[in-house]
Amino acid sequence: MQPSADISPIESLEDAIARCQALGMRLSRQRRYVLELLWQSQEHLSAREIYDRLNQLGREIGHTSVYQNLEALSEQGIIECVERADGRLYGHVNSSHSHVNCIDTHQIIDINIELPAELLQQVEAQTGIKISDYRIDFFGTKTGEVTRPS
Ligand SMILES: [Zn+2]
Repeated sequence: MQPSADISPIESLEDAIARCQALGMRLSRQRRYVLELLWQSQEHLSAREIYDRLNQLGREIGHTSVYQNLEALSEQGIIECVERADGRLYGHVNSSHSHVNCIDTHQIIDINIELPAELLQQVEAQTGIKISDYRIDFFGTKTGEVTRPS
């Protein structure tokens, strides 16, 4: 990620498109397809999955175009890029967030977790580093029970 990228939160597909325009990025049909798919699926997908899904939807886009658009969008901080041992995954949430990883299904769920101030102070005291941001990776298996705050 480039340090100069604007990573203020993007809250909708429209926001994402507006950000591209504000950055002077060309908004090709293919670029819109990629953004639309990420916002609609709300999942973390590989370039290969994005290519397959778009073509299943009848949206014509080549491999190279998918890769180039994902690179450009993540470099500008418009989409999320997750580095995994088996490759990169892309998501629609561009702001800082945590992940819950299901070990069985390899599903990654976005979650916003706020750590208690005491805990952050403890980390700072132990390391001498002022914490300005954090992302937590949780790992586990499905319990079947989901309660979503609304
Ligand atoms: Zn994510």
